[in-house]
Amino acid sequence: MEKTNAFAAQSATSALAPFPIQRREPTARDVQIDILYCGVCHSDIHTARDEWGGTSYPCVPGHEIVGRVTKVGRDVTRFKEGDLAAVGCLVDSCRTCDNCRADLEQFCDNPRATFTYNSEDKHLGGVTFGGYSSRIVVVEDFVLRVSDKLDLAATAPLLCAGITTYSPLRKWKVGKGHKVGVVGLGGLGHMAVKFAHAFGAHVVLFTTSPGKTEDARRLGAAEVVVSKNGDEMAKHNNSFDFILDTVSAKHDLGAYLTLLKRDGAMVLVGVPPEPVPVAVFNLIMPRRQLAGSLIGGIAETQEMLDFCGDHGITCDVEMIRMDQINEAYERMLKSDVKYRFVIDMASLKS
Ligand SMILES: [Zn+2]
Ligand SMILES: [Zn+2]
Repeated sequence: MEKTNAFAAQSATSALAPFPIQRREPTARDVQIDILYCGVCHSDIHTARDEWGGTSYPCVPGHEIVGRVTKVGRDVTRFKEGDLAAVGCLVDSCRTCDNCRADLEQFCDNPRATFTYNSEDKHLGGVTFGGYSSRIVVVEDFVLRVSDKLDLAATAPLLCAGITTYSPLRKWKVGKGHKVGVVGLGGLGHMAVKFAHAFGAHVVLFTTSPGKTEDARRLGAAEVVVSKNGDEMAKHNNSFDFILDTVSAKHDLGAYLTLLKRDGAMVLVGVPPEPVPVAVFNLIMPRRQLAGSLIGGIAETQEMLDFCGDHGITCDVEMIRMDQINEAYERMLKSDVKYRFVIDMASLKS
């Protein structure tokens, strides 16, 4: 075991600060990765501050990880020292339950997947530590390939923000001829706009801030609707094939459900803190669907990364040093980031 530099929260109310952690020596099937970049996800804040309950401290967040392989176990076949590699929200699962065998390891129910941070660490005990660290060791099956054609820092957030939006768009077969709405232009929303546009859909962005119009168009939206404007919203009644709702603040789902046409689907990927009321008439008439989606399995995450490599798609990012993380959290809570912070992990060594 080796001492690894990291940043951790020691309690729900303490700022993140330097804290050395242990990583396991790679076992036969493990890949050791020196982390170059780690994206900063809203889940990191929720977990560091125990806003969803169940956080164990010290807590090292981070699940948008890109780095370089520095050691592999003797049975590893897909990676070698010097390769680029990525790790997302998952680092292990049972591989045998129905969900794992369906390539949906995120829903492993035997008893649950091992998430990159704040999950039971089956090797060292305690909980798993995430990417706000200089190194991570992960079993080969959960390590992903990234294209060396893409900007690596801008690739990191694909591992959560990317797959979270890619997966539902694929599951509901969004493509040419579809009118697709994206609610919210943040870390998730800006990727949803890019993917839906790349899949050939007519993309409409819903935002509360008129100031985002120009950016939304640059990212691939054909239309921008200010959601506070009832008349503007009503023009789109019964017209959407699909809406991806990325907003995690409290908001009215009914305002969007009425925009779906028959058999249209609205999928939620943001998690408002309180239960959200739904007027059921908006669903049964005319047979609309309301669903949720959580990241994606390992195979689909690789498919997404390959798609991004082939189409030159990355996230719009703002680079920070590790010691700027607490300030970055405060800015994220004010939506003051375009559109994802990424930590330059070289700053953790110095
Ligand atoms: Zn995330
Ligand atoms: Zn499983």
